[in-house]
Amino acid sequence: MSERAGLVAVPGFPFPVQASSGLEERAKELAGRCARAYALLGHALAVEPEVAVLVLSEGDWPGAGLPYGMPHYAAGHLVLAGGSSHFWRSFVPLLAQAPPEDYARALEVYGPELELEPFFDLLAVHELGHAFHGQSHSRFTRRWLEETFANVCLHAYVAEVEPALLAVLQTFPDVLTTIDSNIFAHRSLAAFEAVYSSMDPRNYAWYQCHFHVAARRVYDAGGIAALQRFWRRFVLSDDELGQVLASDVHPELGATLTGWPARSET
Ligand SMILES: [Zn+2]
Repeated sequence: MSERAGLVAVPGFPFPVQASSGLEERAKELAGRCARAYALLGHALAVEPEVAVLVLSEGDWPGAGLPYGMPHYAAGHLVLAGGSSHFWRSFVPLLAQAPPEDYARALEVYGPELELEPFFDLLAVHELGHAFHGQSHSRFTRRWLEETFANVCLHAYVAEVEPALLAVLQTFPDVLTTIDSNIFAHRSLAAFEAVYSSMDPRNYAWYQCHFHVAARRVYDAGGIAALQRFWRRFVLSDDELGQVLASDVHPELGATLTGWPARSET
């Protein structure tokens, strides 16, 4: 992982961590969670992807069109905000549209100012889930499955390692999914597949909230074993892929892989 100019290295983690100047303590907090999640997911999925963590100020945020505070995984890096974000605060008026009992629940969990930083901080583990999958040389067959997988990683981590934060994790999705969805331009899974990367970030978050709710149900019903089965269904070794191609398509297709003249570089 390349060093980014102007950032401060934060040592003491099993992967490189860099922070904007002044955000070193926030970086330790966020990277510590990433390290605990890496241990859990690495054990569950039996892989150890290369990853680096960047905890950035608004001034250092990459100009990729994503609002400051929208965590993402790019080129092996978990890109996280270390400062307060207008993007997080932009959800406050949306949550206020929820039915009164749901809005009251949000106020109870996030406080009278609806301070959403603790929720968005947890999303680092979602991005770590992408890092695990992104280096597997396999693809989910739908974008929404890829996102839901990352959310099962996140929910499993919070449930297993930081259960005191389950209310922080669950309340935002629970409440945002109760507002009138007609305010969003896109609502179907087909639309998500088509325009997931170019829709309004709040519309994207609405989808993510539904994926959160689904991921929680999967974890609650099946635990870590369900996460492992989710992974194994889509992430295949070459030998497993060869067997599937031979049995489900045609032996000649399987033989294309298993009989390739140079299966590894020497
Ligand atoms: Zn994602």
